[in-house]
Amino acid sequence: MSTVHPVVIVGSGPAGYTAALYAARADLHPIVFAGFQPGGQLMITTEVENYPGFPEGLQGPDMMDLFRKQAARFGSVILDETVTKIDLSQLPFRIYVDQKEWLASSVIVATGASAKWLGIEGEQIFGGYGVSACATCDGFFFRNKEVIVVGGGDTAMEEANYLTKHASQVVLVHRRDSFRASKIMQDRVLANPKVEIVYNSEIADILGDMEPHRKVTGVQLRDTVTGAVSERKIDGIFVAIGHKPNSELFNGVLDMDSVGYLKTQPGSTKTNIPGVFACGDVADSVYRQAVTAAGTGCMAAIDAERFLEGH
Ligand code: NAP
Repeated sequence: MSTVHPVVIVGSGPAGYTAALYAARADLHPIVFAGFQPGGQLMITTEVENYPGFPEGLQGPDMMDLFRKQAARFGSVILDETVTKIDLSQLPFRIYVDQKEWLASSVIVATGASAKWLGIEGEQIFGGYGVSACATCDGFFFRNKEVIVVGGGDTAMEEANYLTKHASQVVLVHRRDSFRASKIMQDRVLANPKVEIVYNSEIADILGDMEPHRKVTGVQLRDTVTGAVSERKIDGIFVAIGHKPNSELFNGVLDMDSVGYLKTQPGSTKTNIPGVFACGDVADSVYRQAVTAAGTGCMAAIDAERFLEGH
């Protein structure tokens, strides 16, 4: 473990794998820590229709499989392990997976973002028993049942549409009276006869049984305008209210904004620590697309290569 690796990449979405591809092709022999969800958020996505080069679209997991194979083809070492601690106080940087230690001359942070939750008690009680943040993972369990999707962005539209393949009815609950989703995604949902839209509403509580099986039976909906609370029977709830950056590992070490997105120098992937670069969704509160993540992953590898040349 005393070998000092030129580049260690933390994270394995489009940003991490693209950084690995470029670093490998620059003979930097990158080590990639793929993390708790190798492939990142696209592993829990359905059809990707907006990644250039795939005119017919493709499934998110298939796309990440291609990214991984391409990075590996040029010699990236991809470890399905989750980094538990990083010491960036001096060179070489020290990367830990529990007690195991790796040394690196540069680090590329590509840890992505994770689904946000509503923060109500029922999510804890019924998580995995009727409450989910991933329609592709869990939609199958709701064949011919009624489900709620919460949110008004593209993720909520995508989840709602996808769930109509399984569920008998999808109720889209949004806290305002208009969606922030892109027009094309909204139009698909609005035109889908299996989707009912409930505006100006939020989930106040999740109702369910613990015996004989733990399961969701309904929700309390609160009208965000009048405050009135009503009950509605439902079999499942999909929370689709956006994501938060996975930057906890770098709290107090790398500069970040109030939400936790890592700050990079404009026009580059450089963080406040020389030799540490950030790319993809963990450093992008604005675009958050697979193609922009891949683009910044490429930038991070080139920035790392130039940093190493200078040292
Ligand atoms: P988003 O655009 O931030 O939308 C989050 C939605 O959840 C908003 O409608 C928000 O309501 C609602 N929300 C947030 N917190 C809430 C809470 N505590 N309770 C109830 N509702 C809450 O997130 P996103 O939909 O995940 O999209 C993120 C980015 O990924 C966007 O750039 C999007 O275009 C992109 N994306 C693209 C695709 C695609 O093109 N195929 C698919 C998915 C995502 P308000 O509107 O009231 O704030």
